[in-house]
Amino acid sequence: MPDSPNTRTIAADPEGIAARLADVRRRIAEAARRAGRDPAQVRLIAVSKTKPAASVAAACAAGQAEFGENRVQEALAKFTALKPASPGLVLHLIGGLQTNKAREAVRLADVIHTLDRPRLADALAAAMAREGCRPRLLIEINTGAEPQKSGIPRDEADAFIDRCRARFGGLVIGLMCIPPLADDPRPHFEWLAACARRHGLRELSMGMSADFEAAIACGATMVRVGTAIFGAR
Ligand SMILES: *Cc1c(COP(=O)(O)O)cnc(C)c1O
Repeated sequence: MPDSPNTRTIAADPEGIAARLADVRRRIAEAARRAGRDPAQVRLIAVSKTKPAASVAAACAAGQAEFGENRVQEALAKFTALKPASPGLVLHLIGGLQTNKAREAVRLADVIHTLDRPRLADALAAAMAREGCRPRLLIEINTGAEPQKSGIPRDEADAFIDRCRARFGGLVIGLMCIPPLADDPRPHFEWLAACARRHGLRELSMGMSADFEAAIACGATMVRVGTAIFGAR
């Protein structure tokens, strides 16, 4: 994917990134405590899509280890050099995934959040066998039934989760959702948490810049935060 003009012209602003990261971490810890949870149960994924590698490097320098990207090509461009140089770095792919990107995705990602359909399960299984890579997987559920969004529909979720676990075993670690922009996100987060409980899955990837505190109150274990760390896109 070509960079947008902004990603080339705006400096990374390492101090701003470090300050905003510290603020987001503090808000995560407070939200966890308010919910009676251990802040260490909530992992912050810094979403660096559209932002330059220099911004990722600035966040790394400020102690951030987990990053999220939407697009395989963009993630490859940014993280191929960074990953070997930063042993603790964990890369999450959080965008809808095309089957023809499965091989690159399993080679690059530590965690894929968007397993959402049988054909993608087939493609990922084949890619893992071929590449010898075993990323952990989350199943994305389209809790708002939005036609333009990826995610398995709610009423197909139970069967799909069972099939994926039978196939991938312990690599399936949890569930992910992106509530509709116009909705109160809480009922979506609560639905996802109940679904994970029903299946004995421990990870819940939910909450973004606008709603990560609500997500933590509902049990999020991974929050995906971009704008509040790196600034507007
Ligand atoms: C972009 C994106 C985010 C981060 O969104 P912000 O509102 O910038 O925090 C989180 N999750 C997914 C799937 C995204 O595409």
